[in-house]
Amino acid sequence: MLTVLEAIKLATEYFEKKNIESARTNAELLLAHLLNCKRLDLYLKFDRPLSDTELNSYREMISRRGKYEPVQYIIGHEEFFGFKFIVNQSVLIPRPETEILVESIISMYQGISNLIVLDIGTGSGNIAICLKKHLSIEHLDAVDISSDAINIAKQNAELNLVDGINFINQNICNGFVPPSGKYDVIVSNPPYITKEDYQNLQKEILLYEPKSALTDDKDGLEYYKSIVKFSANNLKQNGKLFFELGIGQVKEVEEILQKSGFNNIEIQKDYQQIDRVISGELI
Ligand code: GLN
Repeated sequence: MLTVLEAIKLATEYFEKKNIESARTNAELLLAHLLNCKRLDLYLKFDRPLSDTELNSYREMISRRGKYEPVQYIIGHEEFFGFKFIVNQSVLIPRPETEILVESIISMYQGISNLIVLDIGTGSGNIAICLKKHLSIEHLDAVDISSDAINIAKQNAELNLVDGINFINQNICNGFVPPSGKYDVIVSNPPYITKEDYQNLQKEILLYEPKSALTDDKDGLEYYKSIVKFSANNLKQNGKLFFELGIGQVKEVEEILQKSGFNNIEIQKDYQQIDRVISGELI
C-alpha cells in the first residue's frame, strides 16, 4: 500500500523522466484533485494510505499526463480572474496573460452602464463571463465558430452564476448581424500564432489544445485583419476594439487598426514586459 507522499514521489520521478516541467507540482495537483483537497493540504496527509481504487485512478491520471495531456484537461478546469472555468479539448485553456486584456476593459468601463459588448472567439467563455461579472452590461454577445466551445462556455456561465450572455455559434465573417445594433466594445483573443511558430509549440499544446483556437495557419495576422474590418462596420462611434497580442505583433496590428480608422491606440505590457494588449477607438 502506498502513502500520499510515496505516490507523489513516484509520480514526480515518472514525470521528470518524461521531461515534464514542474513535475512535483503536477504530481501534487493531480492527487489533490483526486482526493478533493487543496494542493497544500496534501502536506497534512503525507502518511495517509491510498486505497486501491484511489491508486488506480491516480495511475490513470499519471499516464494521461505522461502522454503530455495538460493537467487542466485531466482535472477538467482552470482558474481565470478568480473564477473557475470548465475546460476540455474543445477549448483553449485560459492563460494568465488574457487577464490583462480583461483587466484593461474593466478599468476603462468601470462605472459606465448600458454597455453593448461582443466577445469574438469566446472559447471557454472566460472573457465574456469575467466582463459580465464586473461591468454593467446591457447586452453581451459571445460568438465562436465551434459549437463544442459554445457548449462549454454556456456551462461556465451557469457554473459562475452569470445570466444573460447571448452565446452564438457563428463565424462573424459569415453575414453575422449584431442582434442588438452596434457595439460599445468588441474584444478578442484571436488565434494569432504563425504557421511556423505553431510547429514548435510544446507537446501539451500541440497534441491537445484546439489548433483552430491558436493559429490561422498563415502569418498570425489573418484574424486581426478580419476582426478589425468587422469592427470598423459594427462599433458605435467612439466604440473600442481590444485585442490580445502575440509576441512581436504590436507594430503590425497597430498598422492594421490605423488603416481602418482606429485612433487613440493604447498598448499594455504583460508581467514579462511583452506588449500584450492593444486597443483602438473608432473615431
Ligand atoms: N477567449 C478565449 C480565451 O481568451 C479563447 C480564445 C481562443 O480560443 N483563441 O482564452
